[in-house]
Amino acid sequence: MLPIPGEVGKIDMGELPPVVSSIPTSRKVVFLTIDDGWEQDPGFATQVLKKRIPITVFAMRDAVEARGPVDPAATGGRFVGAGGWSYFQDLGVPIENHTLTHPNMRTLGFDAQKAEICGASRAIKRRMGVRPLLFRPPFGNYNTDTLRAAKECGIRVVLLWTASVQPGGKIAYQTPDKKLHAGDILLLHFRPNLSRDFRVLVNKIKRRGFALGNLDAYLDEAMR
Ligand SMILES: [Zn+2]
Repeated sequence: MLPIPGEVGKIDMGELPPVVSSIPTSRKVVFLTIDDGWEQDPGFATQVLKKRIPITVFAMRDAVEARGPVDPAATGGRFVGAGGWSYFQDLGVPIENHTLTHPNMRTLGFDAQKAEICGASRAIKRRMGVRPLLFRPPFGNYNTDTLRAAKECGIRVVLLWTASVQPGGKIAYQTPDKKLHAGDILLLHFRPNLSRDFRVLVNKIKRRGFALGNLDAYLDEAMR
């Protein structure tokens, strides 16, 4: 869903990229973001394509290419789809930056942070043909060096989240009222059973009267 003119509030723009964890709007719309890329479930891709569900992917190179240790959260330490950039090309959705190796950015100096962010942007540009404009720091951990490095790598917005989605499509809220709110950004992962969990989640969101928003269009409106 695209924003109605005047619906979206403004995001304050400073010298450094803004850190955004929800979109300022009063409309009942939420945003779906999916991180890492270890498990490349074909059923999920079919769902997204068929139903034209707007999602934003934060791809981490080592997960997508199945380098290094396997996803520690996957059942039995397995993953599907080694070397799978083509899976993400086929999704036909924005592929954004989530570093090369998924470090805790706060433990790295400026140069190492910049290598992680610029390196991932280059890898995505090479594979997708489009340079990322959004960056999500692993674990949501960042500091001023992260924002400076992100800016130098061409990032416009550092995107966090409002609530995360657990296996089974259960929403883990960070707000005390345990409800969805207008403009919430939800975080999922490319994990086993994503297509089933995703179906449960999307139905739940719709039952509660919320629509799924196009994140890029809403950010454009908020940063205008
Ligand atoms: Zn991650």
